[in-house]
Amino acid sequence: MRPVDILRKKRDGHALEPAEIDAFIHGVTTQTWPDYQISALLMAIVLNGMKAEETANLTRAMVYSGQKLDLSDLPGVKVDKHSTGGVGDKLSLILAPLAAACGVTVPMMSGRGLGHTGGTLDKLESIPGFRVGLSLPEFRAALEKVGCALIGQTGEIAPADKILYALRDVTATVESIPLITASIMSKKIAEGIDALVLDVKCGRGAFMKNRTDARKLAESLVATGNANGVRTQALITAMESPLGRAVGNALEVIESLETLKGRGPSDVEALSVALAARMVLVGGRAKSLGEAETKVAEALRSGQGLEKFRQIIAHQGGHPEVVDDYSRLPIASKRALVRSDSSGYVGSLNAELLGRATMVLGAGRDRVEDAVDHSVGAILVKKVGDVVQEGEMLVELHYNAAWALDAAMALAQQAFVVEEVPPPHYPQILESLGDN
Ligand code: URA
Repeated sequence: MRPVDILRKKRDGHALEPAEIDAFIHGVTTQTWPDYQISALLMAIVLNGMKAEETANLTRAMVYSGQKLDLSDLPGVKVDKHSTGGVGDKLSLILAPLAAACGVTVPMMSGRGLGHTGGTLDKLESIPGFRVGLSLPEFRAALEKVGCALIGQTGEIAPADKILYALRDVTATVESIPLITASIMSKKIAEGIDALVLDVKCGRGAFMKNRTDARKLAESLVATGNANGVRTQALITAMESPLGRAVGNALEVIESLETLKGRGPSDVEALSVALAARMVLVGGRAKSLGEAETKVAEALRSGQGLEKFRQIIAHQGGHPEVVDDYSRLPIASKRALVRSDSSGYVGSLNAELLGRATMVLGAGRDRVEDAVDHSVGAILVKKVGDVVQEGEMLVELHYNAAWALDAAMALAQQAFVVEEVPPPHYPQILESLGDN
């Protein structure tokens, strides 16, 4: 099968056969297809799309480009959660221990932050000693002992995705629903999970800026998961403004711990409970969503979720003392306040601009190889809908490098729009898919 024939077929808008998709992914993994032919096919997929069946076949081929874990000897249903990424999205740190405290086995493989959104691994690494790089036998042992492990992608998991993603990044071929679906779902399916709960973010701070695109992506992810034997549900949730009040790695760990202590911001707690409850339901630990929500709320109220997080930290080499003593986390040396230049209501708070402000301070990275400063970030004093007076504090920036401050302050100031009338209230959960 010649690459050029496969390219021509997709260029002309035809669906690819499973054998053609297998040949493509084999060519990627063995590096027998040159980059220019891989890139040409990626562009043809961006322009002409893929049918649901082709996307499911592409995903399957990418799963088998590496190792598919077999966790079937571990008891119970194995459930993971994935978010398409947002600003201040620290929910994995809260809902993984909450779901595990309710008896669900949670093998969670996460990513690092890229662009204006943060990543779970960077947040966890702000906990001194925490190892996200467990080997697969260590991952398994953690699941057996603690019921939950939070780790990074290992080289054995969907290696074709790593090669494809690097090419997509430099050939303007990231924005494609079939390619995004195959990329996300191949890594999740290869983890050996039985079920998956997705949080598809929608809005200015997200990958998908509008509801139509978010729904298309959510439908594609759910269909592909189910076609590959992973029971998949998705919530589409708003990402216009940051989640919670903390943005930045160590600051988000503190907010996660506060949430597990029952003192978190209401939006963070509500969404954590909603997603964890779906994990408990698909994990077979409750008979209805209502029962699952009650169980998760109880795990939060009783402190069982917090204790589970303490166990996870200790088992993965971190210092569990951080749970009670936040001064053990990295702390930025300086603070700067951004104040409102008018009075009224916070009408909107642009998550992307705020995320970029914290990136400028060093909380995120432009390139995969960049280092992050775990201590820096922002604490929102005002959120959407709050009343604000001229001169009042909007956001507190935590920083180390003085040279970065002016640019960060300008972005943070721009992120807030103060208006004369209160903004309408929008729901946080916009839609639910795959649960019927
Ligand atoms: N996240 C991924 O893992 N892959 C994509 O293609 C986009 C987001």
